[in-house]
Amino acid sequence: MPSLSDLLEGALDLLFAPTCVACRQPIPTRSAERAVCAACWSRSRSLPSPRCDRCWTPLRISVLDLPPSCTTCEDLRPAIRSVRSTYLLAEPVRSVVHALKYGGWFSLARPMAKRMASVEWPDEVREEVGLVTAVPTSRMKERQRGYNQAALLAAETAALLRRDADCNLLERIRSAGSQTTLHPGERRANVAGAFRLAPGRGHRVAGVHVLLVDDVWTTGATALSCADTLLAAGARAVSVLTFARALPDLERHEQRLEAAATFRRRKN
Ligand SMILES: [Zn+2]
Ligand SMILES: [Zn+2]
Repeated sequence: MPSLSDLLEGALDLLFAPTCVACRQPIPTRSAERAVCAACWSRSRSLPSPRCDRCWTPLRISVLDLPPSCTTCEDLRPAIRSVRSTYLLAEPVRSVVHALKYGGWFSLARPMAKRMASVEWPDEVREEVGLVTAVPTSRMKERQRGYNQAALLAAETAALLRRDADCNLLERIRSAGSQTTLHPGERRANVAGAFRLAPGRGHRVAGVHVLLVDDVWTTGATALSCADTLLAAGARAVSVLTFARALPDLERHEQRLEAAATFRRRKN
């Protein structure tokens, strides 16, 4: 028989339970987190293994290719030390990012950063990082939204990692416009030179290993353009941390498998 406190909790849940931003199911009142339910966090996927040690790109293993080579690293300057993303950009992670970016759910930054701060790094990166900063958004977008989602994530992550944060280190000189329809090469050209160091901030980056934070790594064009700006301003090294990483090839592959499975189910 349920106890009085169970009944009371059930009644409170009915009246006040918030709904999860990803699955829309009610979150029990006793849950520590009020925006994403425990089930959605537990079904959020990491990037598939095996991964490149340096940039965490999932590697295709072939017997002809030992050790396996990483095509993403071919594009990275040596001073880009390490790249990490907490999750694969797929549901429910995609809905969480969307809620932070477009839904006004700025309180999501803390639980998201909690997961970002627990990512594993090579020892030298963990020891060396001296400053955390964020990919800047355009002034117009920040005015519309009231915040820069990357800056919120960077500030929360820095606090958890006990590192200094300067989320206004970089400025966007020009808006790159929407990048969603551009190919990787076009994206790189589109954001090249789109950022600069904010006036009077040179002393903050000189000789420092900077951790650059963003919500999503799609092709890496934006983060790498920011990293170029930091390195040109005297940073010793840059590492990149994002909450999610898009892997379009994997997504297309999984969609094809899903479509084939649905076809087989209908046929039987
Ligand atoms: Zn949920
Ligand atoms: Zn790599």
